Amino acid sequence: MSNNPTAATTLNKDDLIVVTGAGGFIAGSLVRYFHDSGFTQIRAVDKKPLPKWYQKSPEVENLSLDLSYRDNCKRAVEGAKEVYNLAADMGGMGFIERFRVECLRSILVNTHMIEESYRAGVERYFFSSSACAYNTELQKDPSVRALKESDAYPAMAERGYGWEKLMSEMFCQEYWAERKMKTFIARFHNVYGPHGTWDGGREKAPAALSRKVIEAQDNRDHKITIWGDGNQTRSFMYIDDCIKGIDMIMHCDELIATPINLGSSEQFSINGLVSEIEQIAGVKLDRRYEPDAPLGVAGRNSDNTFIQQVLGWEPNTPLRVGLEKTYAWIKEQYYDRKAGKPTTAGEKDDF
Ligand code: NAD
Repeated sequence: MSNNPTAATTLNKDDLIVVTGAGGFIAGSLVRYFHDSGFTQIRAVDKKPLPKWYQKSPEVENLSLDLSYRDNCKRAVEGAKEVYNLAADMGGMGFIERFRVECLRSILVNTHMIEESYRAGVERYFFSSSACAYNTELQKDPSVRALKESDAYPAMAERGYGWEKLMSEMFCQEYWAERKMKTFIARFHNVYGPHGTWDGGREKAPAALSRKVIEAQDNRDHKITIWGDGNQTRSFMYIDDCIKGIDMIMHCDELIATPINLGSSEQFSINGLVSEIEQIAGVKLDRRYEPDAPLGVAGRNSDNTFIQQVLGWEPNTPLRVGLEKTYAWIKEQYYDRKAGKPTTAGEKDDF
């Protein structure tokens, strides 16, 4: 990381940084990272009411605004030097297969955020895309080859969520091509870690399975349900790697308007992920499979050739190391909730 430009080497400490989606998992961690790095002007924005934000950093301007409205975007980016747009309606497979309309509607956020950022003279604009933008035809087998950046076209993205990401990427590319605003696009592959959603329907596999293992022990029934046959494969990136990657990508001029994978290349099956969590918890559970549950693609992994070439780095926290921290945090949250304390479980959606 040391040789790559970052916010710390590019900005003054009192330059205004705007982060959207900051009431959620990744953007909340990004705000804390900038705060802990000594930046004094940070504006954090999310549509959730403030008491529901997963993390709130001290001395940060926290605004509760729905960014699918253009006026709110204008207010959000006023005076900003850099904008990190991570706001989106999202969740794990259960959410994105069921609520495609909600996912598509996030197009409004990026459409207005990028225009208002351009008008406000923002110097750098970051968009969080997703591996769901890749052609699903290439992901029909659990042992598929890893996805490289060019695999998004010809386009056949994940319905709803993936198409929104692909279109928003294109906005970022055209704002550079036509208007010379510096935009940066990272395609995240499954991110996990403390302070993420772990219950309620939007949680992703590592958090959901950790919670199920904790529940099985608490209920003493020692059973776990797994979506599909458990042979689906994915890679999982620890949150600290994601944050480091965002900072380096945003400040690398070689990557202007160029989508890049930001994910781990360590591939696991869902069954393998359950085994890791069982080992951390010190249990062996009776596995029940749900073949009709939402599955997503059969296999997906990140080809990290490009990020290695440009940044000389790739996300490298071993799954076991990140999972131990995540599991411990979810366990604490689980028992806090049981004791009636506030937690970041996530709420059931009621569209
Ligand atoms: P999250 O759900 O924890 O956070 C997203 C936040 O965006 C939420 O707090 C939500 O309230 C906010 N938001 C949604 N619509 C908004 C609106 N109209 N105005 C203002 N705020 C709004 O999700 P996350 O995991 O932190 O994801 C952050 C970004 O990374 C998203 O763009 C997501 O699509 C992308 N991403 C995440 C993953 C992952 O594994 N977590 C993978 C690929 C891409």
